[in-house]
Amino acid sequence: MANVLILGGGFAGVVAAERLAQQLSAEHNITLVSRSRNFVFYPALVRLAFGKCKKDDVSFDLRHTMMNRRVNFVEAEVAHIDPFERKVNIAHGEVEGKLPYDYLIFALGRRLATERITGFYEHAHHLLNVDKAIKFGKAIEQFREGRAVFGQCLGARLPVPVYETAFALSRLFEERGERDRIRITIVSPDTVESELGAVRAALALTKALDVHQIETLSNFSIGSLTQNSATATSGDVVNFDLLMLIPPLRGSSAAHYMGVTDDDGYIKVDWTMRVIGQERIYAVGDCVSFAGPKLGHMAVRQAEVAATNLAEEIDGHEPVSHYDHEMRLVIDESGSDSIYLHKDIWTDEPATVRQGRFWSWAKRVQQRYWEMSHS
Ligand SMILES: Cc1cc2nc3c(=O)[nH]c(=O)nc-3n(C[C@H](O)[C@H](O)[C@H](O)COP(=O)(O)OP(=O)(O)OC[C@H]3O[C@@H](n4cnc5c(N)ncnc54)[C@H](O)[C@@H]3O)c2cc1C
Repeated sequence: MANVLILGGGFAGVVAAERLAQQLSAEHNITLVSRSRNFVFYPALVRLAFGKCKKDDVSFDLRHTMMNRRVNFVEAEVAHIDPFERKVNIAHGEVEGKLPYDYLIFALGRRLATERITGFYEHAHHLLNVDKAIKFGKAIEQFREGRAVFGQCLGARLPVPVYETAFALSRLFEERGERDRIRITIVSPDTVESELGAVRAALALTKALDVHQIETLSNFSIGSLTQNSATATSGDVVNFDLLMLIPPLRGSSAAHYMGVTDDDGYIKVDWTMRVIGQERIYAVGDCVSFAGPKLGHMAVRQAEVAATNLAEEIDGHEPVSHYDHEMRLVIDESGSDSIYLHKDIWTDEPATVRQGRFWSWAKRVQQRYWEMSHS
């Protein structure tokens, strides 16, 4: 009998647990550990902030869902891993002390590195959890005129919610007939093209932004914030009346002492999703060291690959499933300018770009599918 521990109850951890439960016989023990019993569907947090869906629509109870799939659930905070003793140190929660494992899947996502931007905590809204999205929603309700600035900090690697927020705010004021009362600016440490990695997608997006009179400020890397101004590391300053930023993000600190991370704390894995230099440990999702943006569908695919290979390993076989690093994203403009982008990051193949109302609808259907299949 093998004792498999999965750390993290996000897209990566949940899918890894589900796939392992399907592939391993009942004699094996699968346990998922996460700090909260709630799964959060992050792609819907922009809609939550704009009051287009409710708190209950964007999360579900993991314990209940996991139990239905014969996976044990433990609500606890992971402190760090001891790969020599094959134990996970738990800081606090339903269990304390050390949890032993035979095999481990690390899926703890990323950590907010807000300390890198002076004034971030006090002056910026963000969308990295449900409560912050609701708080940002309240600020949107109070915002009547002036300049809204949305953007990414260096190391965020998450452009989608920034563009969706800008489109949503523009539409809100267009519908009220008050669009001329506000100015919307998107700031980025990169350019639109380098964020999306595809010229055609960047052109389509820039055109859609122009239609809504949303301006972009490229190569603007935020260094510090005050109550009404953002200063770039270059010294340039942008003033704002409403600010939402995706903070700098880094790898989970629980992996720090394993000697397996890159400079930003992300875990190095091979194409089977095995952690390089460690036995019996896989890593999946936002926590891994791959190029490009970090997206939910990547976490899902990596979890599927890891679960298949781990099931083979437990049965004494070689890995059979390979991960290909692809980017698939939808930027929901809430209308006919919504954009779908698919690009293989590891090859030089040209990207596929589609545009139309369908993609806005498809994104919502995907959320509904997750809700239905996990509640
Ligand atoms: C606002 C927003 C919008 C997004 N929009 C899109 C989109 O449109 N399309 C898309 O593809 N992707 C989108 N993403 C990205 C996507 O949500 C992530 O790529 C995805 O959530 C990664 O899944 P994960 O399981 O690796 O990490 P997470 O979802 O972050 O899950 C990590 C889990 O580990 C738990 N955890 C972390 N540390 C500990 C600890 N020390 N102890 C115990 N538990 C811990 C967390 O509570 C969480 O349950 C968006 C993200 C955000 C924030």
